Amino acid sequence: MLPNCGTVKQDEHIDVRTKISKAFSEHVANFEHICDMKVNAITIKFGNTGKSRIGYCRLSIDTPEKEIVIQRDYWDKASYNEREVLVFHELGHCILDRDHDNTFIIKDNKSIPKSIMKSNNIGLLVSYETYKTYYHKELCE
Ligand SMILES: [Zn+2]
Repeated sequence: MLPNCGTVKQDEHIDVRTKISKAFSEHVANFEHICDMKVNAITIKFGNTGKSRIGYCRLSIDTPEKEIVIQRDYWDKASYNEREVLVFHELGHCILDRDHDNTFIIKDNKSIPKSIMKSNNIGLLVSYETYKTYYHKELCE
């Protein structure tokens, strides 16, 4: 076998540091527990999300670095469940590679959003409180 002649394997450049602001750590820990996985190589922070968004997940093509940015104005006024849905939604994009899903399903004769991955949270929060276990399962599967 030829010795490695000085080329550096790309793996050695992967930065797996995780930078998660304290505000989000409880929700990230819940996500790790619910989905039985570790959240690595991601930054989650407050920042400018633009006018129409409360959060977003940025995936970079060039590096394994991922970033979730959350709007502080929304966060400060949000309930625990609103915060959880937002963090789980963005982790769904960034960690689980999920796209938006705006379909509805029937549960107990009611039409409810199928997924936390709905592109907006209208109608989602009421259902989330009732069907939390269902939504967690749907997200991680
Ligand atoms: Zn989204």
